[in-house]
Amino acid sequence: MTDASVADRGAILHSHVAALYPICRSITGAGLRATLHYIDARIGLTLTEVASGTPVLDWTIPPEWSVRGARLATLDGRTLVDFADHTLHLLSYSTPMHGVVRRAELERHLHSLPGQPELIPYRTAYYRPDWGFCLSHRQRDALTEDAYRVDIDTTLAPGSLTYGECVLPGEEAGEVLFSAHACHPSLANDNLAAIAVAIELARLLAARRRRFTYRFLFAPGTIGAIAWLAANRDAPARIRHGLVLSCLGDPAAPTYKQSRRGDAPIDRYAAHVLAGRGRIMPFAPTGYDERQYGSPGFDLPVGCLMRSPGGSFPEYHTSADNAEFVRPAALADSLAVLLDIVALIEGDTCWRNTAPFGEPQLGRRGLYGDELDRMALLWLLNLSDGRHTLFDIAERAGRPFAAVAAAAAAAARAGLLVPATACASGA
Ligand code: ZN
Repeated sequence: MTDASVADRGAILHSHVAALYPICRSITGAGLRATLHYIDARIGLTLTEVASGTPVLDWTIPPEWSVRGARLATLDGRTLVDFADHTLHLLSYSTPMHGVVRRAELERHLHSLPGQPELIPYRTAYYRPDWGFCLSHRQRDALTEDAYRVDIDTTLAPGSLTYGECVLPGEEAGEVLFSAHACHPSLANDNLAAIAVAIELARLLAARRRRFTYRFLFAPGTIGAIAWLAANRDAPARIRHGLVLSCLGDPAAPTYKQSRRGDAPIDRYAAHVLAGRGRIMPFAPTGYDERQYGSPGFDLPVGCLMRSPGGSFPEYHTSADNAEFVRPAALADSLAVLLDIVALIEGDTCWRNTAPFGEPQLGRRGLYGDELDRMALLWLLNLSDGRHTLFDIAERAGRPFAAVAAAAAAAARAGLLVPATACASGA
């Protein structure tokens, strides 16, 4: 890609982050739906509503949360903290509360960051009913009156949880899953950056011929992935490769967190693409929804692509994780990494040598020229026994994947290779 097209791509990616940033998302409700509608308008989504109270695996879909406003004010009517100013000001899933509260009681419902006194923290009360405000520590220090007026105009009522899927069918059986959480309110790197990158990746893949089916899932974190898995118990039979996408817009280099298996093809592809360009982390049952996809009952080959891992940067889960923190160039680079991984997913096919008894005579078949990587070709013919994919061969030969793939195309044209259906890995 030229520098200009990278800049254009970065600007488009960043425009999605900026457009979605003001919306108050949560694990259910209007903000989550508005976000899914924004994505739907660009790539087309199938939306699924799962009713409150529905059991999903070991969990239950919670009541739906609606918020109309929330204010903390002095008794003489001066507004001090207003949800209208920042979605982070309200504890996500806060129960409704209207009344005068003494300061000692109010303090138990305030969340701030003494170490980062200018920032508003992001806090939730998903599975333990509570009300509360999040505010800068500086704002909190200024609360000196004996009592304050609290008005939290929210509803927790039977409704549903929403997730959206964009499915791009492929020519062969097998799916590739890209999953991004869509439940965080005004936070940009975590996870509007990944939503933006997924939108543009889906657009690019939709315009291409595809070997595999690509499924993009946008769902609230944890409970959304669990609801999707509950409805897709056959996922292990379908999903060949997968990536959770998160925090893809900060300036750090890319980070790949391995799948639970650690040696799945997606783990090897990501390591190949990030060699000299990023870093690899081992799997741990923490982090994002890789821990749901990698729960032992599913054990899906799903890793996680990030730049800075969640929790590792000072802006994480604060008002400093805003649209300015996310960089167009970093978003464009994340998309480029994903396109390189997709190229391996699509290109890692399996072949069988049609002349395996002795070395085939290459000159007679026009395969002795300078344009082919000779070592790649010899390894290709030697290992194309129906048990090694092109990526296996590239790794064993120590040759670039592109050289092995080019040799395979030439050998197939010369009739020395035919597609093999069964393969040990990859395909
Ligand atoms: Zn988060």
